[in-house]
Amino acid sequence: MKKLTLDRILQSQGFGTRKYCRALIEDGEVSVNGEVIDDYKAAVGTDNLMLTVFGEEWLYREHVYIALNKPADYECSRKPSHHPSILTLLPEQFTWREVQPVGRLDHDTTGLLLLSDDGAFIHAQSSPKRHVPKVYQATTAEPVTDALIQHLLGGVQLHDEPAPIAAIHCVQRGEHLLEIVLEQGKYHQVKRMLAAAGNHCAALNRSAIGGLELASLGLAEGEWVHLTAADLAKLA
Ligand code: URA
Repeated sequence: MKKLTLDRILQSQGFGTRKYCRALIEDGEVSVNGEVIDDYKAAVGTDNLMLTVFGEEWLYREHVYIALNKPADYECSRKPSHHPSILTLLPEQFTWREVQPVGRLDHDTTGLLLLSDDGAFIHAQSSPKRHVPKVYQATTAEPVTDALIQHLLGGVQLHDEPAPIAAIHCVQRGEHLLEIVLEQGKYHQVKRMLAAAGNHCAALNRSAIGGLELASLGLAEGEWVHLTAADLAKLA
């Protein structure tokens, strides 16, 4: 079993600087599996490790993998310019441990957003070589037509792309509602594709990434959850 000193463990979980974590431990604010330990050099096993900090339980996780149901008017940035950061919806420990969104949703886009502090995971998920379908519901300014759907399925030319980009599925869900499935994750992709096809995206929601559906996670807007191994397998 991996063992680390208690100060490193607390720091790795996002409780603050090494100095601050040492002070917390020395003040008797930290329990390890129910027992107060005030020696910050104590070597502690990380398997099934339940910490208690300021009376609150905290399961040790080497990395975090999170799904958030993103509300509108939050930015997917650590340094937002016009709206609060999505990180304000998460415990502040996640900011300390540098949790980042896996790809971005626009500030006005809602729905499924993944976040993690595992650089390899973020890199692998964001790789253009991956062809994980992402499912969006776009509310359109103009009514959805068959011509629009055929255009999106046949490929639209975006000005900074060498070749037309096509949706892999596109289904009308209402007079002004289109479900569109994309394999790429290009900047403002849905909005730019709709504009290039002669319509306008008035609102956008992401409901699934790969086989992971937001509806299966039972999250109200602004809520988040740790992904299980089964959830993560659905992203493969
Ligand atoms: N496409 C967009 O235009 N915006 C998003 O937020 C996601 C996909």
